[in-house]
Order: sequence, then C-alpha cells, then structure tokens
Amino acid sequence: MKKILLCILLLAVSAGARTMWVRVYYDTEEARVQLLANDFDLLTGSAQNRYFEYFLDEKTAYDVQAQGYIVNILHPDITTFLNETYGNLRMNFGEYYTYDEMVQEIETISALYPALTHLTSIGQTWQGRDIWAVKVSDNAGMTEAEPRVLISGAHHAREPIGCSIAIDNMYWLLDNYGANDTATAIVNNSETWFVPVVNPDGYVFNETYDDPWGWRKNCRDNNNSGQMEPEFDGVDPNRNYGYMWGYNNVGSSPDPTHGAYRGPEAFSEPETQAMRELCDSAEFIYAVNYHAYGNILIVPWGYIDSWVPSPDSEEYYAMAESMTTYIGVPNNYVFGTGMGTLGYETNGTSDDWMYGEQVEKPKCFAFSPEVGSSFWQAATDTNIIVNQCNDARPMNIFLEYRAALLGIEETEAVSISNLSVWPNPVHDRAILRFDLDWHVRLAVHLYDITGRLIYARTAEYGPGIHELYLDTRRLSSGVYVLRISQGEQTILKEKVVIIRG
Ligand SMILES: [Zn+2]
Repeated sequence: MKKILLCILLLAVSAGARTMWVRVYYDTEEARVQLLANDFDLLTGSAQNRYFEYFLDEKTAYDVQAQGYIVNILHPDITTFLNETYGNLRMNFGEYYTYDEMVQEIETISALYPALTHLTSIGQTWQGRDIWAVKVSDNAGMTEAEPRVLISGAHHAREPIGCSIAIDNMYWLLDNYGANDTATAIVNNSETWFVPVVNPDGYVFNETYDDPWGWRKNCRDNNNSGQMEPEFDGVDPNRNYGYMWGYNNVGSSPDPTHGAYRGPEAFSEPETQAMRELCDSAEFIYAVNYHAYGNILIVPWGYIDSWVPSPDSEEYYAMAESMTTYIGVPNNYVFGTGMGTLGYETNGTSDDWMYGEQVEKPKCFAFSPEVGSSFWQAATDTNIIVNQCNDARPMNIFLEYRAALLGIEETEAVSISNLSVWPNPVHDRAILRFDLDWHVRLAVHLYDITGRLIYARTAEYGPGIHELYLDTRRLSSGVYVLRISQGEQTILKEKVVIIRG
C-alpha cells in the first residue's frame, strides 16, 4: 500500500509533458494480457516479478494507473535523467564503439592476426553500409569442415553492448591462442563468426538522433519520403526473420510507426537477408545474439503465447543453466523462453528462425542474452562494459568449446587397448585403465565444462596393463571432459560426471 501511495504522490507532483520511465506491475494473467494490449513500446519485462518497463508520457502513465495497475516510476523525466547521466555521451557513444570505431577495431584485429581471422562483408544496408563479419579460426582463409558458432550484436541499434562483447570475445580467443588450451582448442577445431553490428544504419543513426534513449530499428524508408524520419520509418530486424513471422500482433507489430514493426514481409530487410545467407552457408550449430537489457538468457520459443518450450528444451535448458550458473564466475542470468523470462512473446526473431527453420539449414541452438540494466548504461563508465563482457564471455566460450570438442577428430590408437574410465559417474576417484604393447608417451587432461584445464599429466608408460588414479575429491559436482592424447592425436575423449557429497 505504501508503494502505491508513493507512486500516486510522484505522479501528482510531476507536471508538464514529461516522458517517464516506469515499471508497471500486473497481478493476473488477464491483467498482463490487457496491459500488452495497450501496445506500448516495451523496454523489458520480468515474468518472475510480473512487470513491464516502458517510457510513457505523464498522461498515459496516469491512465494506466487509473486502470488499476501499480505504476512504479523509475524516473519522472527520462530526458532530464539521461542528460544528467550521460550528457552528450549517448550520442557520441561514450565508451561504446561507434560503427566507425568498430570497423577500425576489426581491421586492427585482422592486421594483428592475419592467419587466424577472415574479415568479410556479408551484405549492405538500405543506406549502403557494410554489415561486417569476422571469422576466427586456424586457416581462416579456408573453409574447413569444422563446427561453427555465431556471435552477433546490435540487431537493435540502441543496444551497443553486444558489439563490445563480440570484440571482447575475438580478442580473448586470439590473444590466448597458443597460450590457453581452451582458446587454442576453439580456434583449431571450430570456426567462430562474429557480426558485431547487425544493424549499422540504425546504429549510426544514433549518432545524430537526439533522443535520450536512442533508436532501435533499422532505417527502412517506410513512407518513401526519401529521408529518415523516426516517427515513420524503420523495421525491427529482430521481428523480421522468417519463422512464424507475423504470428500475431502482440509479438510483433504490423504498424510501421511501432518500435517492433515487423516489416512488410519476412526477410524484407537487407540485414536479415544477410544474416540468413550467412546462416544458410555456415550452418552454425550454436548462436548467441546479444541484446539489452534485463540480465536474462532467452531460448526459443519466442512466438508462442504460453510457456511452451521447444522440442529440444531439455538440452536447451541444460546448456542455459551451465552458461549462467556453472561456468567461470556465474552471471546468474534468469533463463527461459521469452514468456518465461520477460513475460511477453516475440515473433520473427533471430532465435526462433535459427533454431526452428530446419529445411534450408540444420538446426542451430540460438540464444539471446539481454545484458545489463539499461541500454546505454556504460556510456560514461568503462568498468561497466568490462564487467558486462566478463558476464557474457563464459557463455560464448561454453558454446565455442562445445563446438570445438565436436570438431576434434577421434583417432584410433595403434598401441593402446582396453582403455576404460571407471566408475562414471565418479565420486572420490576415477581409475583409468589401459593396456600397452609398447612404450607410449601419453598426456592426460581433465577439463571442466568451460574448457578450463583442471588436471594435466604427461608421462611415458611401458608395455603391460596400467592403472592411473585420478583423485576427484577436490572437484565440485559437474560434467568434465577427460582427454587422453598421444602427441597430436586424441586417443580418448570422454565426458566424466563427478558427483560429490
Ligand atoms: Zn534487443
């Protein structure tokens, strides 16, 4: 009750046509649906805590409150708030990459690591800008038969953190190549493709668009006026993909002036066409498409107006749990479907198409993290960008390393036989048993699920039966990967489950 009174008071004292940043709470399913029927541009939401966030003008905020909703004002005047917080830094991107800076950075990266990177334009926008992609792999100039992973940012123009995360991940792989086993395995045995800015026109428009919160869509000229007019133009690239496109008018909008306008038809936009072509040719097995905000990890389905998970939900949820909970320093993102996390459905999204479309390309497990707690949160503070990259990087590495493990060729050993690991699951110790008919130098490596090396031993063994004991008492429960290799050859690669307690 106190909270409601406070809100009413705040509403009463604020005068003039201000735009407020509000959080609107619903208490029933009916109230949720009714609130969505208002068709306001959504900023984010929380299914757990039952709210949506919007920018509403003062009168609309009153109206919503009069409908019986609890309206919590995060700030009574978003323009003042953002100007005070960022000054003009929002428009010059502060510590985020501008499009030009991004291009410079990936050119620098390719110059630093010419053998491990391949820079390519995957298409051009309405305004003629290149949509750049960087492939990171050994023999990057060649197309090898290796599993591929996609990392993308900035489908939505006002969400620049995805660009920072993509570049951070590139540097991590390349700087650590040859020095860190995980990075080396990823680069050698898989291809990681980065598209730091999927939507360059919208992204660049934010440099001159004098709106405190920035532009979201691309720059399609919806009304054919020959110029970019934010009140009329733009398509939401993340509502324009061709799987269940336009499924309903809640998960996307048929209205060109709406922030979630889905476009005149599926794949009508050069940005989604370029992504489609890339996905069709690269046949990614995993993808992470970065967004802001909410500290959430979203998995399909997005389009269904329920909490219906996908046919692969068990595997999806296990991966999402590992990505958010069990790797590196956990980021503890809430994970689930769009409905299960944000509380609203979305149709025509990248993830539903990348996962759901299985005719023109294989199934791809696609994820959409919503990073941070606002769009331009880090404009004045590099540390926030660093922290958010630290939150995101292990999720990428988890998938990249999974892909790399699939890419490691398993080869038959010539002089080793009867190789076994027992027991599995392991409690206190595992026994590794094998027979040799000659002297062999073997390396035993145990990795955790993030690819971090936990244990390594290289030794030479003579003819006969051998038993090695692997003490697991100091390891926590989870899935590990045991790899035994002879020189460059992997002889055994096996998942070992450790159960403690
Ligand atoms: Zn987004």
